[in-house]
Amino acid sequence: MARGDIEETTFAETVLRVAKAVAVHDDLHEVVQVVTDETTAITGAQFGAFFYNVMDLDGESYSLYTISGVPRERFEKFPMPRNTDIFRPTFEGTGTMRIEDVTADPRYGRSAPYHGMPPGHLPVRSYLAVPVFGRSSEVIGGLFFGHERAGVFTSVHEKIAEAIAVHAGVAVEKAQLLAAERSARTEAEARADAAVALEVVGDGIALVDDQGVVRLWNPAAETITGRRAAAVLGRPIGQAVAGWEQIALRIPIGDRAASTPVTLPLDTLKGREVWLSLYGIAFTGGVVYAFRDVTDQRRLESLREDVIATVSHELRTPVAAVYGAARTLRVQRPDEKATAELLQVIEVEATRLAALVDDVLLTSQIDANRISLIHTSIDPREAVEAATVGAASSQLQVDLDGAIAPASGDPQKLSQVLANLVENALKYGRGPVTVTARDSQRAVRFEVSDCGEGIPREEQQRIFEKFYRRETHLDAGLRGTGLGLYICRELVQRMHGRIGVDSTRGRGTTFWVELPRHEPS
Ligand code: ADP
Repeated sequence: MARGDIEETTFAETVLRVAKAVAVHDDLHEVVQVVTDETTAITGAQFGAFFYNVMDLDGESYSLYTISGVPRERFEKFPMPRNTDIFRPTFEGTGTMRIEDVTADPRYGRSAPYHGMPPGHLPVRSYLAVPVFGRSSEVIGGLFFGHERAGVFTSVHEKIAEAIAVHAGVAVEKAQLLAAERSARTEAEARADAAVALEVVGDGIALVDDQGVVRLWNPAAETITGRRAAAVLGRPIGQAVAGWEQIALRIPIGDRAASTPVTLPLDTLKGREVWLSLYGIAFTGGVVYAFRDVTDQRRLESLREDVIATVSHELRTPVAAVYGAARTLRVQRPDEKATAELLQVIEVEATRLAALVDDVLLTSQIDANRISLIHTSIDPREAVEAATVGAASSQLQVDLDGAIAPASGDPQKLSQVLANLVENALKYGRGPVTVTARDSQRAVRFEVSDCGEGIPREEQQRIFEKFYRRETHLDAGLRGTGLGLYICRELVQRMHGRIGVDSTRGRGTTFWVELPRHEPS
C-alpha cells in the first residue's frame, strides 16, 4: 500500500465513528475533539486543530479550538489564526488548501508580526486546511493539519478531511440548535412562570400599549375594579374603565425604578367607590399599571381621623369647663353659693373626663383583645341595682318582679353595660325609663326602655359601631363619643350573650341584653 493510501474499511470506519459521535454527543466540545482526533489520525498528521465559531448567550460570535496530536498547552500562548494569506482561503471558504511545503509557498511568511510561524510553534511543512461550512454555506470554522516533513498529505487525505469537515459542520450546527432550543425552553418556562405569577398576584396589573389600548388585565384587576378582562382587553382603557381618564393624569409613571404610588378613587361598575393605590412603569411599548385596593385602609384612616377629632373635641370640653371654673374660683373669689356651684362643675366635668378616658382605654383594650372577664354567677337584681344606683333620676323605674334565675358572666361588666344603656335612655330618649330583668327560656333577659323618638331601622345596627353617633344628636349638641354601645356589644359578646335594640318610631326604644343562665356545675 502506497503512502497516503488508506484502506477503504479504515476510511469507512473513521467516517462512521465521526458520524456516530456527531449523532450521539450533545456536547459540542466532545464531538469536535473526536472529529479532530480521527482526522489527525487518519491523515497521519503530527497535529491537527479545529478552529470554530460559536455564539454566546447574547448572540455574539467567538472562537474556540480543539487540538490533537500535541498537548493543548503548546498552543495556549499562540494567537488565534488570523486572516493571513495562508489562512484566508480557509476562513473565506474558498476551498481546501493542501500544500506540500508551506515554508516554500509564496504566501508564507508575509504577514507581520511573525512572518511565518510564531516562535515556539511546531515546525510545519506539510499543510492541509479545510473550511467547515454551516447549512447556509457560511464558514463556521476550519480544520488544519500539519507535519514537519514536506509532502505528507495526499489527495485521499484531502478528500477524507473534506468528508469529515461536513460532519464537523453538522456537529457545530446541531450544538447551536440545541443551545437555542434550550434557551428558548428556559425563556418559555420563565414566561409561563410570569403568567402564573400574574394570575395569582393580589395586585391588579394592567398593560396598556402606547395607543392606550389594554393588552393585559389580570384576575386581581378584575376583582378590584369589577371589570372583566373580556370587557376591557383590546379597548382603550379610558373607554373600558369609566373614571380612568379622570385619574390617569395623576398616576405617577416611572421608569424601571418604581414610582411612589398615589391613592385615588375609582368608581366600580356596581357604583361602589374603590380607593386604589397605584403607579405606572413605562416601557418601550406602553405602560404597566400596578394597583391595589386600599379602600379598607382608607376607611380605617378616616375612622382614625374621626376618632382623633371626636376624642380631642370631647376632651377639650370638660377640660375647658374645669379650667374656667378653677380660674374663676382663684381670680374672682366668688361667694359661697357660686363657689359650691363651680366646685360641682369641676367634679362633674372631671368625672366625665375620667369616664371618657376609661372608654377610650377600654376600647383600645378590646381592640387589642387584652381584656379579661370573669365567668361567674350573676344575681340579676344586684346587677340592675349596681347599674342604676348612680343615676338619680325621677324618670327611672326598676321593675324586678318575681324570682329570676342567676345569669352567667362578669357582674361588674354587666352592670357597666346596663348603666350605659340607662345613661343613653335618659340622654337620648324620654322618660320614663324602665329597667327590667326576667327569665327568658334558657337565658336571662335585661331590658332598658325609654319613651323617646326611637331609632330608625337603618341605624339600628350602625349605632353599635365604634364612634357612630346619630346625626340628630350630633346636631343637638349632645355630648358623646360613640363608644358606649360598641363597648356594650363587645362586653356582652365576650360573656357569650346577645345585645339588640327594638324601636318604634315616636314610641320609644328598648335595648335588651340576654346572658346565658348560670348552670351550677
Ligand atoms: P355616645 O352616647 O357616646 O354617643 P353610644 O355608642 O352609647 O355613644 O351611642 C351611639 C349613638 O346611638 C348615640 O350617639 C345616639 O345617637 C344613639 N342612641 C343611643 N341610645 C339611644 C336611645 N336610647 N335612643 C335614641 N338614640 C340612641
